[in-house]
Amino acid sequence: MSDTASALEGVNFVAGRWTASRGGETYERRNPWRPSEVVGEFPSSGAEDVDAAVAAAEAAHPAWSSRPAAQRGAILARAADAIDARVEEIAQDMTREMGKPLREARLEAARAAMILRFFAGEGWRPWGQVYEQSASGAMVYTRRRSLGVVGLITPWNFPAAIPAWKTAPALAYGNTVVLKLAQDAPLTGLHLARALAEADLPEGVLNVVIGRGSAVGEPLIADPRVRAVSFTGSVPVGHGVRDRAASLGKRTQLELGGHNPMIVAADAKLDAAVQAAYAGAFWSAGQKCTATRRIYVEEPVYDEFRERLLARIEHGKVGDPADPDTEVGPLVNQSQFEEVLAGIDRGREEGGTVLTGGERADADAYLVAPTVFENVGDDAYLSCEEVFGPVTSLYRFGTLEEAIERANAVRFGLSAAVFTTNLATATRCVDELQAGILHVNSQTAGADVHVPFGGTKASGYGPHEQGRAAIEFYTEEVTVYQDA
Ligand code: NAD
Repeated sequence: MSDTASALEGVNFVAGRWTASRGGETYERRNPWRPSEVVGEFPSSGAEDVDAAVAAAEAAHPAWSSRPAAQRGAILARAADAIDARVEEIAQDMTREMGKPLREARLEAARAAMILRFFAGEGWRPWGQVYEQSASGAMVYTRRRSLGVVGLITPWNFPAAIPAWKTAPALAYGNTVVLKLAQDAPLTGLHLARALAEADLPEGVLNVVIGRGSAVGEPLIADPRVRAVSFTGSVPVGHGVRDRAASLGKRTQLELGGHNPMIVAADAKLDAAVQAAYAGAFWSAGQKCTATRRIYVEEPVYDEFRERLLARIEHGKVGDPADPDTEVGPLVNQSQFEEVLAGIDRGREEGGTVLTGGERADADAYLVAPTVFENVGDDAYLSCEEVFGPVTSLYRFGTLEEAIERANAVRFGLSAAVFTTNLATATRCVDELQAGILHVNSQTAGADVHVPFGGTKASGYGPHEQGRAAIEFYTEEVTVYQDA
């Protein structure tokens, strides 16, 4: 592997080299906590860069896919070690470039290593099934093959975990990759490329291109050498990606937004429910696809729950994300900040009452105070659309049936939680809540690395990600009739 960058600024990673974009254009990324501070300059790449990256990935595919899977896995395991050795540096960079509080950034950086390690193990696991032919009893078996070059398009909100959970299975199953990182968090993703480069990943197997969606994402999807596209991001962009990719006959996977409900039954352990509501709604400043947007509380405990949640908010530290005690930091950029404030204004205009927060919390930073609404109508904007910030709403409910019906009354279906000590209540919620990820007595956010992750309804499209489920998207299954 050639030239490992001493600094990750200003470069893409193409054909094993750290290179500026062909056009030489760059943009500045600023710290959302102190927007006058430039974190770094990064390439504003374009179609030529995508072309070079896809060409490198295509050239690398035959040798990479024919390596024994366990050897591919060994490279992923070494990359996991490289990330583990640099968790603090990666976390600090993540916090500076996109404002995630350090305590969560550290966990996410360590999680990227866990993801690589899980998929390293895939090299040792079965790839098919053996049957008998019905007429002769001779063998017929299935095996999985890599697709070729895959395009991965990622958002800024989990800048270590999401690039890792797409790249690791893609590589483990023998594909080569062009990874498009989000413009708001390129540095964290480049750490993944550096770790893999240090682990002796052959050149061209992973290529990373940074730039705008229209300038990098679109040519990547359109390139005929790219067999499949995995996308995580917003609903409108995702649907455009799916329509374009599907019209070109490509395999497509989308992980999109959510509007995740939490139901608190009267028999719930209230302290645990309050803590989960706080963490689910406000950690990462609510910038998680799985954040808790709606909290339905059973009438007899509503007032008590509201009081305890407001008390919890009083105690949570809001501010500088680099302070390890901070729980709620800034939003990622000015436009997200303005969108969230506009969402809050609309919530008020439509009759919602702000119980706490609802305003800018720092003169300089893109900081919004943790915000809780009540009296929001079920059809109001806040009840239906994803406001990607620290904003949640409380609703009273009378019967479980009513709570489930209201929880399901959105187009999204990513995650949902129920807090109860009654097994029948839990079971009914698990049966009836429309979500791809269900939590009984835990917050709506959070994802283990070894189990499937993905949404239903408008929140997802195509096979789930993570765990062994990832094999569905990143391989194709062939059937072999083998006679003597
Ligand atoms: P986004 O849709 O704006 O961007 C996602 C990626 O797509 C970025 O890399 C962007 O540059 C690229 N892109 C933009 N336009 C494109 C185009 N025309 N063609 C190809 N690529 C294009 O989303 P975001 O603001 O980065 O992320 C936040 C959103 O992501 C939220 O809606 C959140 O819920 C969602 N999200 C979902 C999951 C999940 O697993 N379901 C996880 C994290 C985030």
